[in-house]
Order: sequence, then C-alpha cells, then structure tokens
Amino acid sequence: MTRTAMIAGAGYAGLAAAAVLARAGWRVTVYEADPEPRSVGAGLYVHGFVHDALRKTGAYDDFMRGAFKPAAHCVYIDGARQSNASTDGNITTTTRAALHVALIDAARRAGVSIIGGSRAVAADPRGALILADGTRLAADLVIAADGVRSTITQTLDIPITRVAHQDGITRILLDRDGLRDDKWNSIHDFYDYRGRPLRVLYTPCGADAFYFCLMAPITDLEAASVPIAGALWTARFPDLAPALRRVGNSGR
Ligand SMILES: Cc1cc2nc3c(=O)[nH]c(=O)nc-3n(C[C@H](O)[C@H](O)[C@H](O)COP(=O)(O)OP(=O)(O)OC[C@H]3O[C@@H](n4cnc5c(N)ncnc54)[C@H](O)[C@@H]3O)c2cc1C
Repeated sequence: MTRTAMIAGAGYAGLAAAAVLARAGWRVTVYEADPEPRSVGAGLYVHGFVHDALRKTGAYDDFMRGAFKPAAHCVYIDGARQSNASTDGNITTTTRAALHVALIDAARRAGVSIIGGSRAVAADPRGALILADGTRLAADLVIAADGVRSTITQTLDIPITRVAHQDGITRILLDRDGLRDDKWNSIHDFYDYRGRPLRVLYTPCGADAFYFCLMAPITDLEAASVPIAGALWTARFPDLAPALRRVGNSGR
C-alpha cells in the first residue's frame, strides 16, 4: 500500500524530505504558506555529508551544475595572512536560490505536489496535518519543516530553546563581473580585532556570484548598520575594497 506524507514548508528541509520519500514510493504533498516556494538568503557552503543527502534527493546533478569549488581558503587576522590552504576540491559553494530551485525541480520530478498559499497550523500526533482553513489531512507521516519558528512544533508541545546571537551578520550576494581572476576564486576570511572586532567572509559561490558575510557585535551600531557603513569596512579591509565597494545599499 502506498504510504502518504504531508509536509509543511517548502524550504530546504521540506523539499529534501519530500523528494527522498517520493523517490522511495511515498505519495507526498508539501504545503507552503507563501504563494510560491521562495528562497531567502545569499550563498552557502555544502560539505561532505550534504553531498550524500543531495544525491538521495535527485537534485545533485542540477545542484553541481551551478555550484562552485573555491581554490583555497585564506584566513587573515588583523591584516596578516595566517593560512592559505588549498581546498583540494572539498568545499562546494552555491547560491541559496540555485539549491532551492534544484530541490523544487527534483521534488516535482519525483512526483511531489507542492501547494502554495497553504498555511499549516497544527499537527495531530495520531497522523494528520491541519491547515489554516480547517482542512485535516490524514497521513502516515507528517513533517513540520516550517522553519526555525515552527508553528507546528509549538502545537506539539515540544520544548524548544532559542538563544540569540550577540553578533549581527549582514549577508549579501553580488555579481562577480570584473572579479574573476585567481584571487577572487578563493575564500577570504578576515578577522580584525584592532579596536573593534569585525569579520568579513568573502565566498565565491558561482562563476557569476560572490557572497559576503559582514559580522560585527550587535552593540556596534555603526558596523552592524544596513545599508553598510561602506567607508568603515573598506578602510578596515582594503584587500577586499573592490568587492566591498559593490555592496552599496544591498544587504540585510
Ligand atoms: C534572513 C536570513 C538569511 C539567511 N541567510 C543564510 C545564508 O546566506 N546562508 C545560509 O547558509 N543560511 C542562511 N540562513 C539560514 C537558513 O535560512 C536556514 O538554515 C534554512 O533556510 C533552514 O531551512 P528550513 O527548510 O529548515 O527552513 P526555511 O528555509 O525557513 O523554510 C521553511 C519554509 O516553511 C514555510 N512555512 C513557514 N511556516 C509555515 C506554515 N505554518 N505552513 C506552511 N509553510 C510554512 C516558509 O515560508 C518556508 O518556505 C538565513 C536565515 C535568515 C532568516
């Protein structure tokens, strides 16, 4: 008998679970609160075990077509380079949107139905997902993949502890046009503790895109501000100035 899974949330977790189950013969429906599945964020790193997981979803080939392998991982402290290690092809980067699209396509190819504009509000441990319009969807398996603030998990009375980070992170995805020579094919991770602690992580995440993480304590209102305080960041990290100057008003 075909087993049925109802999944709330068409983010990475929901789509990956959906694709794997559908490929194993389950009938799977994903209910997404937004009208269409959409990706937030900039770029990401994909490490060893995630490659294995992606193979199981059927999204791997699409994912790898758009992915990037940075040449080296360079770390700097207070302006001095500490390491320049070859990645030996072991680090893969991509844009979040590219991975999301690969997972959506893989899930659909496997026969998953993705229904947008459907907010789930609860799960019944006896085997049902409940939608905001009152629809009760019986299932052999219900997956709450509705994100870090999961409504569904809260209805199940599962204890959750959240701890707020003391560092603010501004993430930005930008065009690599003109930044394609060797230097910009590597990861550059700058820590600077002189005066005020700041960190910039530059990550090439495709032939056409790079990803910045700008980190500062949330109490440093100038450094943590968005749009970024461009003069402050370029003065502190002159090696990255050509890339930092592109940030302008983007970032969040
Ligand atoms: C602003 C921001 C920027 C980020 N940037 C990065 C980054 O650059 N790189 C990185 O690696 N990580 C980033 N992260 C972290 C990353 O987003 C998460 O780790 C990842 O998205 C978690 O995937 P998920 O599938 O568990 O949840 P989500 O990606 O949160 O997906 C949950 C899905 O469920 C849907 N949903 C929510 N509630 C319901 C409901 N009640 N019913 C139905 N659907 C629902 C949502 O619309 C969403 O589509 C960022 C996070 C935030 C908040």
